[in-house]
Parts: sequence; C-alpha cells; structure tokens
Amino acid sequence: FHAVMSSPIRILADHLVNQIAAGEVVERPASVVKELVENSLDAGCGRIEIDVEQGGVKRLRVRDDGRGIPRDQLALALSRHATSKVAELRDLEAVGTLGFRGEALPSIASVSRLTLTSRAAADADDADSAWEIGVGADGRLIPARPAAHPPGTSVDVRELFFNTPARRKFLRTEKTEFDHIHQLVRRVALAHPEIGIQLRHNGKDILSLGAAGGDERKVLDRLNALLGPDFAEQSLALEESAVDLRLHGWVMRPAFSRSQPDQQFFYVNGRMVRDKLVTHAVRQAFSDVLHHGRHPAYVLFLDTPPRLVDVNVHPAKHEVRFRESRQVHDFIYRVLHRRLSQGTLGVTTEAVP
Ligand code: ADP
Ligand code: MG
Repeated sequence: FHAVMSSPIRILADHLVNQIAAGEVVERPASVVKELVENSLDAGCGRIEIDVEQGGVKRLRVRDDGRGIPRDQLALALSRHATSKVAELRDLEAVGTLGFRGEALPSIASVSRLTLTSRAAADADDADSAWEIGVGADGRLIPARPAAHPPGTSVDVRELFFNTPARRKFLRTEKTEFDHIHQLVRRVALAHPEIGIQLRHNGKDILSLGAAGGDERKVLDRLNALLGPDFAEQSLALEESAVDLRLHGWVMRPAFSRSQPDQQFFYVNGRMVRDKLVTHAVRQAFSDVLHHGRHPAYVLFLDTPPRLVDVNVHPAKHEVRFRESRQVHDFIYRVLHRRLSQGTLGVTTEAVP
C-alpha cells in the first residue's frame, strides 16, 4: 500500500496501454481471427484464407485479396486509435464498417509476434511491390522491408500471449481453441456467401467454400455445408420489410427444432450479435409451435439504417443498442410468427397440443 500511495501519477507507455486494451479485445485465438477477418471484409476482399496451427496459439495467419495497405500507412495500421474507417463523430453515429475503433491490430501486436504484409490495390503508387512490417519483442516497430505477396494483405500472428502469462493460463486445449475459431469462421461464412473462404488447421483443410456470388443454389449449398445437409430443405425462407427494417434469412421448421441452441445465427447489418432483445423476440415467435425444451434454429439478417443502431457498446462488439428497440422487437416477432404459422399450416404432425 505504501508503494501505491507514494507513486507519482504517470502516463502509461504505449505498449502497456495496448496490452491493457488487448485484455478487452483479445480473449483467445478466435478473437484474433474475428478481428482479422473483419478487417479483410472491410477491405472489400473476395477471398479469405485462414491458416491455424495448434489451435491458433502457436500461429495463425489470415490472408485476403482486399485493397491492401500502402507502404506509408503500414506503421499507422499498427498504431493505436489509427483507423481509416471513422473520421468524425458523425461517422461514429452511423458506422457502416465492421471495425472502427482502430485498436485491433495494435492490441494483437502487443500480445504476440505479429507480421503485417500487404500489397496495395493497383491504383496506388507502390502497387507493384509488397511490404512487410513487424513488431519486435520490445514493442517497437521493425521498419518496412520488401516482401513477396499478391495484392491484398496477410497478418501473421505467432505465439499469442507469449508475454502475458496470466492470459495464456486461461487458454483451453488446442481442440477447444480451434473449435472456437471454426465456429467463428462458420458465422462469417453464413453471412458472406459472396466471399470464398478457406480454413486450415495444422495443414488440413477444414472448410473450403467457393464464392457463391448471386447464385441462389450455391447460397443454399453453403448453408447446408455449414449447418448440415438438410438445413435448407427443412427451413422456411423469409424476407419482409417495414419502414427502416428488413428481415431475411431462414428459420428451421419447428418439427426439426434442436435439443441444443447451437444453430442460432442473428446478424444486424452483417454483424453477428448476441442480443437479449432479439433472442426474446425470436423465442416468443416460436413459443406456440415449439415443444418444451426444444430450441429453434435460424439464420436471420436484420438490416436497418446504421444511424438507428449503436454498435459502439462493447469493445468486442457483440452487443448492439437499437434506437427503437420496441419497434425492432415487435417487427422480428411479427415476421417470424406469421412465417411460422404459414409454414406449418396443414402439417398435422407438428400440431401443438
Ligand atoms: P479498425 O478496423 O477499427 O479500423 P484495426 O486496428 O483493426 O482498426 O485496423 C487498423 C487499420 O488498418 C484499418 O482501419 C485499415 O485501414 C487497415 N487494415 C487492417 N487490416 C487490413 C486489411 N486486411 N486490408 C486492408 N487494410 C487493413
Ligand atoms: Mg479492425
């Protein structure tokens, strides 16, 4: 206590500040994959490759073919509160990208050995070459050097938490950590059929999904590849709009409900969320048609103008806040309730006692 009382107030070193921020954003290897994949999506990529070694603890690499980062901005990308996505408060009130806090890369870099390699899109001056920067063990940037890389970006993260033993202690087995990554990549793949996705673990192909483009059948193929071979067939497709709200996707017919809540995917403006209000509305819509102890399965997308939803609630951005929460709740309930009562019409085996 004596030491604390007598210490003068100091501004923390950048590296330490980043490590503290990493505590909020980087819980485990899957959170690193989430941040990197979201950056790839924000960069307008058409394909993402994710390579994982030993559950992501030893190494994970995310490579995309997005617009890339020009050489003179590589160091900035690793600096705290540096972002190309938000410039003023007005932007923050209507965030259209997945990222906006400008802290993922510096946070990850502060708790791992990170290398960032990028080749900017063809319109940049240095587009004919790729550049690479890294962070040394002392937290200092290693200056950019030429590298070989097709247009796009790779982030290579090794030895996650090597310098934060407290965090490392909380890591689970290689299998559990990889399961979290796999689950995360499935969530992203469901929301982005237009993007080719490859996931490898210890050199083995786990997911290999071609871009579905606008091809409806390929979209359904992907749904089945991710959720089981009969998901599409056992589901009801839906799409409905109201002022400022649009809900679309698939709900599984009640007869095929699940014993676990393991197939519940809800996205708000493309962002996967776990939201109490949403869950409540969905459960209420299913309450008449679902037996006790069974869980609905669904993949649903809610689109609304960004100004009506606040995504800046939590650093990891799992939660959102709707401006008109009552309206959103009732809309989701109404659309699902109607679709479910149409869909189950005449199917006597599903009749509720
Ligand atoms: P944020 O995503 O919140 O802006 P990050 O720390 O995740 O913050 O990334 C910082 C910046 O680095 C981004 O704003 C973007 O300009 C650039 N960047 C990061 N990853 C990529 C990528 N894969 N492709 C292109 N640019 C990227
Ligand atoms: Mg980001």
